Amino acid sequence: MSEFDPRRRVPRTDAVLADPRLVAAAGRLGRGPIKDAVGAALAACRAGEIAPAEVTDRAVAGLPRDAGSLRPVINASGVIVHTNLGRAPLSDAARAAVDRAAGATDVELDLATGRRGRRGAGAVGALVNAVPGAEAAHVVNNGAAALALAANALARDREVIIARGEMVEIGDGFRIPELLEAAGARLREVGTTNRVRLADYAAAVGPQTGFVIKIHPSNFVVDGFTSTVGLGELRTLGVPVVADIGSGLLTPYPRLPDEPDAATSLAAGADLVTASGDKLLGGPQAGLIIGQATLVERLRRHPLARALRVDKLTLAALEATLVGPVAPVPAALARTRDELTARAERIAAAIGEPARAIPSEAAVGGGGAPGVTLPSAAVALPEHLAEILRLGNPAVVGRVERSRLLLDLIAVDPADDESLITAARAAIGT
Ligand SMILES: *Cc1c(COP(=O)(O)O)cnc(C)c1O
Repeated sequence: MSEFDPRRRVPRTDAVLADPRLVAAAGRLGRGPIKDAVGAALAACRAGEIAPAEVTDRAVAGLPRDAGSLRPVINASGVIVHTNLGRAPLSDAARAAVDRAAGATDVELDLATGRRGRRGAGAVGALVNAVPGAEAAHVVNNGAAALALAANALARDREVIIARGEMVEIGDGFRIPELLEAAGARLREVGTTNRVRLADYAAAVGPQTGFVIKIHPSNFVVDGFTSTVGLGELRTLGVPVVADIGSGLLTPYPRLPDEPDAATSLAAGADLVTASGDKLLGGPQAGLIIGQATLVERLRRHPLARALRVDKLTLAALEATLVGPVAPVPAALARTRDELTARAERIAAAIGEPARAIPSEAAVGGGGAPGVTLPSAAVALPEHLAEILRLGNPAVVGRVERSRLLLDLIAVDPADDESLITAARAAIGT
């Protein structure tokens, strides 16, 4: 090694680590990412790529922005509830509630008496208030957990009567009938793929019946020679009726007339309704169980309820979603093509060539409202920009259609329009 070999002048690790910016970052991110960034900068210096005096700046530049590997994404896919993008984004009110609840909080303490309080009373109360006809509610980890709990608490070693046309696979290879069986219930299938009658159910009811389930085929449509049995008829069977509505609509939503909701399902004859918290409700991942008080209580006091219970962060976010301002998912659902077109035109003009504003068809997604398209608008860009935008920070995920990249605005918060413009301009410039 010659006297002038740059490797001789590589700074010492502890000298670099003592830089105040890196010390401050270690407090925020933990020591691991700091060591990695310093190691990479020192290696670049040893390789002669940067001068010794540049090592600290390079290490600071190489730091991750935040602890953890999840990156923020602007959802320009045109799918409002995008499972791969974490389904519903939380409202600002829900995020603030999560932040408050993240410390010590009175989730199970009655501050007035100093005694143990009912866990999640605020969220459960808000849920009961939001659903006309609901006597009681319970919250578990997700929609699948709600079904597993109902099956185990009400039908273990007994039968769940289920129509063959409602034996749904929900995604990633998971199937509701298999879930019910794994939870200890035996399936009693009735009808055919396309048709089932009340008489089919009636013939299956017996001493072994735990409950009848009605599952909303949320991610497919059966068209043609079909018939199903409504909750109003199922209630006449004299056994508990569980309605898995999936989407989490609490009351009817006029823009999605075919999407079942909790209030209507209870009024029609369901004893229990199960749904997800992070689909159309727009809240955190959660399983909502709503309905008749004695059944809800049996589920709530069941040993498995403890294994499926939600944390304080979920309870905080759910309550804020229920009582707070309109959450991003319902806000997206309510957007009109006119308002989206105006945004698309403004954004396309700000980006400049070759961006164009065009009409687009958006979808609800997340296994909700299959076959329903929502009139939307998008900014069209050359297809090759898809990858560049996806790798940016924030990442922008659009949709490639007919060899163009579409940035559909229906699920984009208007507050993110400027970020979208900045990202697109940068991508075009590269
Ligand atoms: C989404 C869905 C589920 C599963 O709910 P998760 O919250 O994803 O566990 C169950 N049933 C129906 C009808 C659904 O749409």
